[in-house]
Amino acid sequence: MSRNKVLISGASIAGPALARWLGRNGFDVTVVEKSPAIRPGGQAVDFKGSTHRAVLTRMGVLDDLVAAQTTKTDWRLVDASDRVKAVVPGEFIGGDLEILRGDLAGILHRHSQMDAEYLFGDEITAMRESSNGVDVEFAHRSSEKFDLVIGADGMHSAVRRLVFGPEERHVQSLGHYYAVANSTASLHDLVTRLPDGRAVAYAYNEPGRLAVLGGQKAPSLFLFRAGHADYDRRDAASQFDFLERSFRGVGWRVPEALEACRSASDFYLDALARTRMSSFTRGRVALVGDAGYANTLGGFGTGLAMVGAYVLAGELVAARGDHAAAFAAYDKVMLKPTKVARSGNAGGFLAPPSQLRIRLRDLSFANRFMFRSMMWMTERFATEDAIRDYGLR
Ligand SMILES: Cc1cc2nc3c(=O)[nH]c(=O)nc-3n(C[C@H](O)[C@H](O)[C@H](O)COP(=O)(O)OP(=O)(O)OC[C@H]3O[C@@H](n4cnc5c(N)ncnc54)[C@H](O)[C@@H]3O)c2cc1C
Repeated sequence: MSRNKVLISGASIAGPALARWLGRNGFDVTVVEKSPAIRPGGQAVDFKGSTHRAVLTRMGVLDDLVAAQTTKTDWRLVDASDRVKAVVPGEFIGGDLEILRGDLAGILHRHSQMDAEYLFGDEITAMRESSNGVDVEFAHRSSEKFDLVIGADGMHSAVRRLVFGPEERHVQSLGHYYAVANSTASLHDLVTRLPDGRAVAYAYNEPGRLAVLGGQKAPSLFLFRAGHADYDRRDAASQFDFLERSFRGVGWRVPEALEACRSASDFYLDALARTRMSSFTRGRVALVGDAGYANTLGGFGTGLAMVGAYVLAGELVAARGDHAAAFAAYDKVMLKPTKVARSGNAGGFLAPPSQLRIRLRDLSFANRFMFRSMMWMTERFATEDAIRDYGLR
């Protein structure tokens, strides 16, 4: 029997994870990634709970992740005179296992590069489905037929747009934006290390704005509310300009932090948004990760992408070539874990809209009972749903 040919669009988290599973379990996998290489950058992402751990263990990547994990960083929220107003403990932000997104993408690529052919610097431009496959056109290479096409190309998925319709129909912007960059200057002296090894970063709020100062290995984070997305998503200079305009007049060390990130090669800006879909599959096409169920900063989206890749591969293997049965099962299994992608907006909590709300938020970290309730909320997002062991290699 000939091997099923699968094309995966996107090589960040969901794409390489799926490539690893499918490639080792009898599929002929090609991954096409728009960027010339695996993209570095992004802040720390985290895993929490038994489902995430089970998937990472079965995949054989847990040890590499543990070796590369961050020491969790406490945020000291300060006022303009550097007085500490509240401390956000690293456990609150970092789940059970925290790793820089770029490091995770690199590890997943390493673990999957023998299982798939990676095509960097190209993208799908058109797809036509017929009874025996999908004819795919690319920007830079000749067209090819695949049995299945998987969109792992993130919140602004081209596969979703081509098959399910325009982005506005499926992506809800939450009115906040975030930018992340490793500073090129010496801000890293601001991320200090306590004698017990914990790292401490300093953060500053003004209404609707949050800046967390990072360094060369701990990215700076800027989170802000803005009326509309006044930037070109494909142009880093335009994105940086949007960020600068949004923080104009903000005090403390923010101007210095912005300056230090100006020429960062890994600058990344996007909207906080949710992908809302009632089904992640259509015909011979499926979506995995943010393309189907994003909720930026809303809780364990990266873990969800890893779980989704495992379930999709598992159902495809279990269905022995019946992609329609596999996709229906994938839709059904993922409905529950993806509930976290349909609620919550961390933007208003991290960058409260007024000084009063900032003070109330700070108090919630000082008050034990309130802090415990918040930790309980984050526990809720940890995926504990039992995911079947598909017996994959
Ligand atoms: C550089 C970068 C930095 C990030 N930083 C953060 C962060 O700081 N905080 C946070 O919460 N989330 C961040 N994210 C998103 C985070 O990685 C995802 O929310 C989550 O891990 C799920 O991953 P994903 O693989 O589904 O999607 P993504 O990580 O968004 O990856 C999508 C991949 O598809 C590629 N791609 C996009 N369009 C096409 C196309 N048309 N054809 C081929 N390839 C395409 C992209 O280059 C990217 O490699 C970042 C993503 C990237 C790419």
